[in-house]
Amino acid sequence: MTQSEIRSALAELGREPSRSLGQNFLHDQNLCRAIVRQIAPGPGECVVEIGPGLGALTEPLAETGAEVLALEKDRVLAERLQRVFTGRIEVVPGDALEFDLRPLWPRQPVKILGNLPYYVSSQLIFHFCSELSPARRALFLVQREMAERLCAAPGSAEYGLPTVLLGRRWRMTRGRLLPAGVFHPAPKVESALIDFELRGPGELPVCDASVFERAARAGFSQRRKQLRKLLAGEFPALDWTAVRAAAGISDTARAEELALEQWIALANALAPVGAAQDVHGEMFDVVDADDRVIDRRSRGEVHANNLWHRAIHLLLTNRAGEIFLQKRSLAKDQNPGAWGSSAAGHVDAGEDYEAAARREIREELGLDAGLVSLREAVRLPPTAGNGWEFVRVFRAEAEGPFRCPPSEVEIGAFFPLPVVREWLRRRPQDFTPAFQECWQAVLG
Ligand code: SAM
Repeated sequence: MTQSEIRSALAELGREPSRSLGQNFLHDQNLCRAIVRQIAPGPGECVVEIGPGLGALTEPLAETGAEVLALEKDRVLAERLQRVFTGRIEVVPGDALEFDLRPLWPRQPVKILGNLPYYVSSQLIFHFCSELSPARRALFLVQREMAERLCAAPGSAEYGLPTVLLGRRWRMTRGRLLPAGVFHPAPKVESALIDFELRGPGELPVCDASVFERAARAGFSQRRKQLRKLLAGEFPALDWTAVRAAAGISDTARAEELALEQWIALANALAPVGAAQDVHGEMFDVVDADDRVIDRRSRGEVHANNLWHRAIHLLLTNRAGEIFLQKRSLAKDQNPGAWGSSAAGHVDAGEDYEAAARREIREELGLDAGLVSLREAVRLPPTAGNGWEFVRVFRAEAEGPFRCPPSEVEIGAFFPLPVVREWLRRRPQDFTPAFQECWQAVLG
């Protein structure tokens, strides 16, 4: 849109740009096209645009053939977008901070784009780059100062909590600088693009995300103070000498001196995630066609020889009727990175199905299994698809939060059932085959 098109669109609506909504509209079409090209959207992809305004970025975005979801808080502008882009994009009126990210999982691949309203840009970035977001790429236009803070190196004055918290999952690169003159009205400060790319598996060591965040928040709460004192407040049982030696940091270190890898080492020294479960030593009962125990063999032998054995799956829902799903760690030997049941596992030798379900509730969800009331929902026969397991599926209700072991589970979250149904329909490859069978039998 040109400056005069922006002026006349606003005049038609009887509006001035709203300062409180951070409305600074882009008026250079070539620049808008270049920004859209930078995240390379295409058919089959879904791009969520935050704050589309008068549609300066939305127009070139819609031309790429990607599915566009435009989230606009200004009701008048949202209605105008609905009229101008009828049938070409989906407009979602309302506050993007309240946008539920979970229905985006069936719509992957997802990218996020936004010339962000500056008053709320940091909150928007944290929301759309949270673990509940399926996006693997995002491009934001923000104040230059903010872009520089996010990409700052340790030891600099700009390096801070957002750099560290977002940096654990995202690689952030500052892009081109934009002078105030490319916006209408011109803001008082320069702007910059910042490109987010989700880190690949194994790029950084795994750690307990909640311990990492607690440590970083405590550490940056008073930049001038030494970490030793700040962490002692947050982790009362802290053995600082042992922790700092394990993490390889100095006795007098301050938060701003620690590189991302050192924050991760610190989190791991505070709460080691342990190795992924040692599956090799496990022993299972081997059963006959009537599910009677006939032998006891190692996990390796059971799987190599297609021997019938036993497993449990738990489908756990909350009061809102949403189901808790786990995304398996990339370190798992089977179905790494796939989404599966709320908890699942083999029945150990000498164990019965219900005891195995209670053990998995303890180990995979961190719940006191005695407080959870279990119902058996269905029994599934062994098939090649489920790895020759007799499966009993249990159901239970609980609200969370759960403590899933970081070595086993990358993310865990409640999802509305219609979202899971749609997700399974569009992207069955995202789920373990065993979960698909359980879902079909119980909730499908
Ligand atoms: N994308 C347009 C452009 O580049 O010309 C407009 C960008 S302008 C900087 C920010 C836009 O975000 C405005 O349209 C404003 O109304 C909208 N906005 C402000 N707060 C919002 C929020 N919380 N959720 C969604 N949109 C918001």
